[in-house]
Amino acid sequence: HAKAQGRGAMVRYAPDLRTEQGRRLTLESHLRRAIAQEELFVEYQPKVELRSDTLAGFEALVRWRHPEYGVIAPDEFIPIAEESGMIVPIGEWVLRSAVAQLAAWRDAGLPLAPVAVNLSARQFLQSEVVETVGGLLAESGLAPGLLELELTESVSMADPERSVVVMRGLGALGVMLSIDDFGTGFSSFSYLRRLPLDKLKIDKSFVQDMAHSAESSAIVQAIVAMAHRLKLAVIAEGVENADQVAALRRAECDQIQGFYYSRPLAAADCADFIRQYAANGAGPLKTPQAPG
Ligand code: C2E
Ligand code: MG
Ligand code: MG
Ligand code: MG
Repeated sequence: HAKAQGRGAMVRYAPDLRTEQGRRLTLESHLRRAIAQEELFVEYQPKVELRSDTLAGFEALVRWRHPEYGVIAPDEFIPIAEESGMIVPIGEWVLRSAVAQLAAWRDAGLPLAPVAVNLSARQFLQSEVVETVGGLLAESGLAPGLLELELTESVSMADPERSVVVMRGLGALGVMLSIDDFGTGFSSFSYLRRLPLDKLKIDKSFVQDMAHSAESSAIVQAIVAMAHRLKLAVIAEGVENADQVAALRRAECDQIQGFYYSRPLAAADCADFIRQYAANGAGPLKTPQAPG
């Protein structure tokens, strides 16, 4: 819906950006050239293994540096990319970037930890994602277990039959599969036993409500217990303070991710982070593995 904006906004934005609809259409057309003009980039947010305090891996998060409007967050442009179909080339670009980043760390002699990439519904259901991922891994020579794919519950619910087929294909490649934002979708628990899953990712809304809400706390504990009974690992996202870390430790959550440990990092800063994390007595990281 069109919304009036203040004078400040008028100065910064081109005329057709005065309305939400105008901004959306403009971004959609600009998004088409964003890959070719190298405006997209990826940040990597560390994940920590709670029990051992070791680096568990990273999540790749895409950003768009628009030449006029500055950095645009994925929450704004990913939905536009999904509706326009641009998510397929963009998602493939992110996958390629993440695999190239892992290969660069390997070539620099760094210990390797898995990198997770988000897949959106349209990319998952409408592209040859199994072939794409398989091809990228084969080209790179990386162990498939170093790549993790995060899917939301809505992805698997959009087309359950096709989801099972695609996820089994991805699972057969040896990549790790996790359900993102777990607990926010309208999911049927039956998919948990049909899909070759490795991990559940508890949505940050539960994590951030734990301190004030006995219900959220109970939900977090129940998700961890259920995940473990199903032999799945569980990670909490959006962890911002020490109280949340302590509560998640008590709940026996396996991994955490959030601003408390680190914001998403520029790719160029990750190598230093990996070295520091390894050097500061945080425990051993995985050593580079040959594909097997
Ligand atoms: P997500 O996959 O659930 O990613 C986690 C989001 O939480 C990220 O937001 C991250 O920066 C943010 N976050 C991490 N720690 C904290 C914390 O302690 N507190 C708070 N408040 N937030 C935290 P970001 O990077 O803005 O991404 C938002 C969403 O955009 C992602 O949610 C994901 O759904 C989507 N997205 C990002 N990159 C991609 C991509 O390459 N492909 C697709 N399909 N979607 C992507
Ligand atoms: Mg994610
Ligand atoms: Mg999430
Ligand atoms: Mg999300």
